[in-house]
Amino acid sequence: MTPFRLYDSMRRQKVAFEPLVPGKVGMYVCGPTTYAPAHIGHAYSAIAFDTVRKALTFLGWDVTYVRNVTDIDDKIIKRAHETDQDPFAMSAHFAAEYNRDMALFNVSAPTIEPKVTTHIPQVIAIVERLIANGHAYAVDGDVYYEVRKFGPYGKLSGQTLDQLEDGARIEVDHRKRAPADFALWKSAKPGEPSWDSPWGKGRPGWHIECSAMTVTHLGATFDLHAGGKDLIFPHHENEIAQSQGADGEGTFARYWLHNGFLNFAGEKMSKSLGNVFNCDQIAAAVGGEALRMFCVEHHYRSPVDFDVQVVDGVARFFSLESSDRSLSGFYTTLQRIDQFIAPGGDAGDGAVLPEAESLVPAAKAALAEDFNAPEVVAAMHGAARLANKLLDEGKGVDKQVRRRTLARLGRDLRTVGGAIGVLTQDPGAYLRERRERLVKAKKIDVAAVEQKLAERKAARAEKNFQRADEIRRELTAMGVELLDTPTGTDWRIADAD
Ligand SMILES: [Zn+2]
Repeated sequence: MTPFRLYDSMRRQKVAFEPLVPGKVGMYVCGPTTYAPAHIGHAYSAIAFDTVRKALTFLGWDVTYVRNVTDIDDKIIKRAHETDQDPFAMSAHFAAEYNRDMALFNVSAPTIEPKVTTHIPQVIAIVERLIANGHAYAVDGDVYYEVRKFGPYGKLSGQTLDQLEDGARIEVDHRKRAPADFALWKSAKPGEPSWDSPWGKGRPGWHIECSAMTVTHLGATFDLHAGGKDLIFPHHENEIAQSQGADGEGTFARYWLHNGFLNFAGEKMSKSLGNVFNCDQIAAAVGGEALRMFCVEHHYRSPVDFDVQVVDGVARFFSLESSDRSLSGFYTTLQRIDQFIAPGGDAGDGAVLPEAESLVPAAKAALAEDFNAPEVVAAMHGAARLANKLLDEGKGVDKQVRRRTLARLGRDLRTVGGAIGVLTQDPGAYLRERRERLVKAKKIDVAAVEQKLAERKAARAEKNFQRADEIRRELTAMGVELLDTPTGTDWRIADAD
């Protein structure tokens, strides 16, 4: 396997990764709280860490990827109550929907997907230990973590406890010994789902579930913990306090990864700003792979500006349209390569042009340096340019070398694309689906296009090339571009807006 470096949010610098077990990476990602449909912010974070997972697999590591589901929580109970639903049925529904949505963006199912409600005994065991060793206290059926008993509190967010208490909006609760103390176990209010515990009926607080699930599925000490930057405080800070409070200093996550936010014209996403877009809405507008492409075109740690505007009552995802054009270019190249190679079948073994040999090593080098997916995309563009040049003109290149080079470029583009979760579709299927999408969006009359194509074919058969060119110009004016392929004339919607 290829060694790699990553930016560790705890050490605040790039460091070389050293595995706990040679060749293996145990990775935990905080997953969704399932009370509403997933939106673009959820998807962006899920794609970022799925890319890390795929990149590590591409680099030869054996990855165990754990992503939890928070299936009981204040928000779930509130939403279920408001909509008169059973909270468990509702969260199961949104959990299934979440996985279906993530598949739109080529996010793979986790190796293990633990749920809070099936880890209650593990939660209780940690809380009991924290009480026994003086890190937590019970009051009237609730249990709180006593933050001042944990010396390193604030290390991940880089703030002292005093600063954190000043900065955070912490509810005044007289049962707590200090304002920053947080709930490990919440006593049940009437009508709420609850479990038996040594402190009476209740349910876990939010943070404790991740401590319970990591120790259950990855052990007390594991390699990588990932999540959105917004989770650093208080969630990840509290996870560390709980797990190290229970298992001792030096346990828990050995490296921390946090991804940057999507910004909407400088604003964060929020329901009140009206810029919360659901996954299915995005997939319908531009196709799911466009969001994946957009994500890997940016470094996972960078804050990214996302351009979306409402035009005539319809959300136009300009950022994603641009990524979709880039995808369309890659798929068109792959389709051309496939059509070029297909007639003779396998291109065979033997030498290829030396410049075609660099894509895979370049991708490995980029991903091994803090998962630099944008550099991989840049290398893919380089390979696609070379392929198109060879397709357009093979001048001065041996016929067999040309065939083998094109076959190699096609294969490596797919391999490297797959390492970051793109170019996984059949080019023909993607291009047809994209054309249908654009035909609908631009209100193009397909029957009229087909009619003109038939006229042009007839004109050409009669060697009336003047008329054939005229029809081509008429189609161009309609926004339709003709593509002459080995199997006849195809058409697509021109990319210029
Ligand atoms: Zn978590």
